[in-house]
Amino acid sequence: MDNINKFINGKHHQDLKKAFIDACSDKDFKNYVYSLGIEEEKLYKYTSLLQDCVKERKVCKNCSSLLECKHDVKGYVLTPEDKEYRVVFNYCPCSKNKEYLENTKNVTYYQVSREIKNASFKDLYKDDKSRLPIIKYFKDFMSSYKNDEKTKGLFLTGSFGSGKTYMISALFNELSKKGFKSTIVYYPEFLRNLKSSFNDDYEEKFNYVKTSPILLIDDIGAENCSGWNRDEVLSPILQYRMEEHLPTFFTSNFNLEELEDHLANTSGTIDKVKARRIIERIKQQSEVLTLITKNRRN
Ligand code: ADP
Ligand code: MG
Repeated sequence: MDNINKFINGKHHQDLKKAFIDACSDKDFKNYVYSLGIEEEKLYKYTSLLQDCVKERKVCKNCSSLLECKHDVKGYVLTPEDKEYRVVFNYCPCSKNKEYLENTKNVTYYQVSREIKNASFKDLYKDDKSRLPIIKYFKDFMSSYKNDEKTKGLFLTGSFGSGKTYMISALFNELSKKGFKSTIVYYPEFLRNLKSSFNDDYEEKFNYVKTSPILLIDDIGAENCSGWNRDEVLSPILQYRMEEHLPTFFTSNFNLEELEDHLANTSGTIDKVKARRIIERIKQQSEVLTLITKNRRN
């Protein structure tokens, strides 16, 4: 019986070895398995998985950005790892994803699209002069923030789809690479989320945003304004950040006058004084710039 087992195992081993050697007739496969630095014999029984790894990496070669990832598990590739008695295969971040994870590790996002999370200075459209004052502001911001000088945030108003959120996210990602922490909240969704967490982690979420070293309140004015979110959320956030000199950024389709009207009008009651106070705080804390260009959304 022992002899039969030995024979079967030996035959099995020979078959696996043959399959592996046959696969090596493909140059890409051969180069890949040699690049792994894993003992060849140990790899024999994984030929098919290794071929999957090579196939995925061929797809990766033609990929210019994480957003175009063609894999089922976006941004991840099947990767072998040498263990003592076997080789294990896990999905690990691809090179583009690793770069992205590294670059954005200091930015917290609430309900932000993948495109926005991937925003970078090097991909900024430079075809249009209306962005120049914003880029100039970014440069000034970066240099004074790095030098620990008091810095104003930005209230960026302008047309829908002009790239307001994208540009500020690119700045935050750049700051993240230098180790500076920031948060981007898509404001209407943040409010909805906060409202539904009254019995849960309300304080934690609220304080996280309130105290973030740099904050973007994205799309202010797109929320349904209520006395609660104006007086219990926005107002204390701005008050705290003003006292602590924490830069706050905003994007909005409204200019400040329109935002004031929006904030004044809460479910049938008009409260001009409270709205005015908020606008004054925004003005104190932020530069105001406008970006009006064609809609960049597909
Ligand atoms: P807004 O916030 O002004 O409504 P977004 O920032 O969401 O607009 O931009 C709209 C789309 O255009 C996004 O999907 C983004 O990927 C793209 N985009 C905008 N501005 C740029 C830019 N300067 N460089 C590269 N892509 C951009
Ligand atoms: Mg936006």
